[in-house]
Amino acid sequence: MSPLTPEPSPADLLVVGSGLAGLTAALTAADRGASVVLVTKGKLLASTSFYAQGGVAAAVGDDDDPELHLLDTLAAGRGTCRESAARVLVEEAPARIAELRERGVVFDDGLGLEGGHSRRRIVHADGAQTGRRIAERLCDQVAAHPGIEVVEEQQMLDVWRDGARCVGIVTDRAALPARAVVIATGGAAALWSRTTNPPGTVGEGILVAHRAGAAVADLEFVQFHPTAMRDSGFLLSEALRGEGAVLLDDEGHRFTDELAPRDEVARAIVAHGSATLDLRAVDRSRFPSLIEQIVDAGFDPAHEPIPVSPAAHYMMGGIVTDLDGRTNVPGLYAAGECTCTGVHGANRLASNSMLECLVFGRRAALAAAEEPRIASPLPTAPVGRPLPEVTDAVRRGAWEHVGLIRDDAGLRAALRVEHPLVHLVAECALARSESRGGHFRIDFPYRDPAMDGVHMVVRGDAPPEPEQWS
Ligand SMILES: Cc1cc2nc3c(=O)[nH]c(=O)nc-3n(C[C@H](O)[C@H](O)[C@H](O)COP(=O)(O)OP(=O)(O)OC[C@H]3O[C@@H](n4cnc5c(N)ncnc54)[C@H](O)[C@@H]3O)c2cc1C
Repeated sequence: MSPLTPEPSPADLLVVGSGLAGLTAALTAADRGASVVLVTKGKLLASTSFYAQGGVAAAVGDDDDPELHLLDTLAAGRGTCRESAARVLVEEAPARIAELRERGVVFDDGLGLEGGHSRRRIVHADGAQTGRRIAERLCDQVAAHPGIEVVEEQQMLDVWRDGARCVGIVTDRAALPARAVVIATGGAAALWSRTTNPPGTVGEGILVAHRAGAAVADLEFVQFHPTAMRDSGFLLSEALRGEGAVLLDDEGHRFTDELAPRDEVARAIVAHGSATLDLRAVDRSRFPSLIEQIVDAGFDPAHEPIPVSPAAHYMMGGIVTDLDGRTNVPGLYAAGECTCTGVHGANRLASNSMLECLVFGRRAALAAAEEPRIASPLPTAPVGRPLPEVTDAVRRGAWEHVGLIRDDAGLRAALRVEHPLVHLVAECALARSESRGGHFRIDFPYRDPAMDGVHMVVRGDAPPEPEQWS
């Protein structure tokens, strides 16, 4: 590690990560006059958000209402959503879409339908390029904003604390002080060997927050997307099934409801052993980039079904925050996929995650603006501790032992995989002796009504504790 550079003066807000949550937090704060530093470990445009294909859910259709969006969100969450957070999510959704339009994002005409939604409510940009189009627009605005300093290619290693209070972060190159920090480092699905996520999405922010004393929760709830291409993990969006794509078994027969929630579809595929996705009934001209990728992979979607299988896709759990992104560490906030607001419960409803970034990224920035100034002089910054390596053995271990179908022996084996986040996932999964949403245990195959509304919360080295949140 290179020696630390001298400390700059504290920013009002330091945002870590340049996905939709981080970009939204940075712009929200800077538009209100705050000095913002945005640190990201790659280039500004590099994030999982960039790959998001389907769209953003919002009750903006004539036949729709946030209350219906709420009911669908709660149903997908399998009795474990924090209703107050889900209500904030759906009620603020139309305003966040309007704000993106004001920022210059151009959405397509019409609304898409996806699994678990009772209405057409998915807003798209440029077909299946929604994440990319939003991220590009917000990145342009962040790069041009006089109130935002962008620091690329620096990796957050630790939170810098003065006693209990967060006063900045330590990266692999610098100590960066700030009145408040928003961690927006995304999920951890690339810890699993079969994944739809880019390789850097390995939960670093969740680990950093945990070792700084922030509570983390619900890490056992991992969403496995049912339809990733079998060889590459390339995602064949839910929107295709919304528009008529069907799943076929080896004999060419349908075997499941393609629009059921993701965990059900994914397990139906595993139970069948193998599956193909038939796109012949879909208006393929609506998905030009997806079809191009499929053809590039050597398939002809007009004539043959595409082999698919489930892959780790999304973390419902993460850093525990309140409805304004606050963690239990004063001055430390979090937003986006790295968090557990409880909004998704045991299973995220399709296209609610980019929405979560927009809604809670903004709320975290607004709340962080109220933090008091930090006392000076600051304590000496710690030297950042390296983050654990994600080896092939770690990724294989995660897939085998904390994958789609779990049991006690496998979860105990996961405790021997050399990665602390895999351990945390396994500990939460062992503590939840039932099956629900993105957590399926063959030794406890049914949902336990006594666990309705229960979140598994890990604080420090203590074992997970069940909690109910209001
Ligand atoms: C293929 C695919 C399709 C999807 N489709 C949809 C969809 O249609 N609709 C939907 O709602 N959701 C979709 N999702 C999920 C959605 O994209 C993500 O949940 C969301 O974009 C996460 O945004 P984020 O801002 O929380 O994190 P990310 O977009 O993952 O950004 C995290 C940022 O943090 C940075 N970072 C990470 N660790 C560190 C560190 N230690 N130090 C500094 N920087 C760090 C990263 O480089 C990155 O810039 C999809 C996901 C995938 C993979």
